Amino acid sequence: MKEICDICPRHCKVNRNEKVGFCNEFNKIRISKIIDHFKWEEPCLTNEKGVCAIFFSGCNLKCDYCQNYEISCGQVGKEYTAEEFAELLKEKEKDNSYFDFITPTHFSKQILSAFKIYQPKIPVIWNSSAYEEVEMLKQLNEFIDIYLLDLKYADNLVGRKYSNCNDYFNKAREVLSFASKKMDVFEKDYLKQGLIIRHLVLPSEIENSLKVIDYIAENLPNRIVSVMSQFTPTPKSSIKRKLTPLEYKIVQNRAVKKITKGYFQDFESAKETFIPKFLEEI
Ligand code: SF4
Repeated sequence: MKEICDICPRHCKVNRNEKVGFCNEFNKIRISKIIDHFKWEEPCLTNEKGVCAIFFSGCNLKCDYCQNYEISCGQVGKEYTAEEFAELLKEKEKDNSYFDFITPTHFSKQILSAFKIYQPKIPVIWNSSAYEEVEMLKQLNEFIDIYLLDLKYADNLVGRKYSNCNDYFNKAREVLSFASKKMDVFEKDYLKQGLIIRHLVLPSEIENSLKVIDYIAENLPNRIVSVMSQFTPTPKSSIKRKLTPLEYKIVQNRAVKKITKGYFQDFESAKETFIPKFLEEI
């Protein structure tokens, strides 16, 4: 791949054969970690077999509070060509119920090339920050079954503060609007196609969370929403404390009033070893 990179809204326009852009990754897919039978996603994705969680290295957002900053910033992991990645999918689908592509955006073109070689037989979850280009997602859409998308901020200024971009909300709105065309399809209790919108509540940014809930209620009614409490400060994070029970309760109360379907993460999930538990449905 020789062309300059404009995969995501950063539009770095670098030749990733020679140098990295904001995402800190070259052209080859790099995976830092693969976990089979991963059972810590939302209940409608967590059956007996669990998901094959594929953690891509690098990130096009790099939030200052990132819990996975060794992965998002560190160029760690094994490289794969599109052919090798297609082989990996073939191998891993035997033992898992879903593929969970975690932070895949900056490898969108490379993943598309792999899908053209081999289309998985189990559902593919696109688990991203929603800071991406709809035009790229349109090309991937036929291979993606479930969008598991963050809506981090409903205010570009908050995105600027934590994720070093001026247009997070503009881009995420477009992406969510596109992804919402994928209607939810369940088999028994498990989602096989559709959209889940995730929101991590940040300490001291409750107004942002309330705007996120209001935005979803007005623009994406009846979609599954997952409200998360797991924020834990890292050494690099500008937010130095955990969420308080009162802050979380305020956001939960708004969600109960306005959101029809979804999950609250157990407040106790805010631990250094991230093991989310989803307690009650909204
Ligand atoms: S994918 Fe990476 S190099 Fe390409 S535009 Fe986005 S941040 Fe820049």
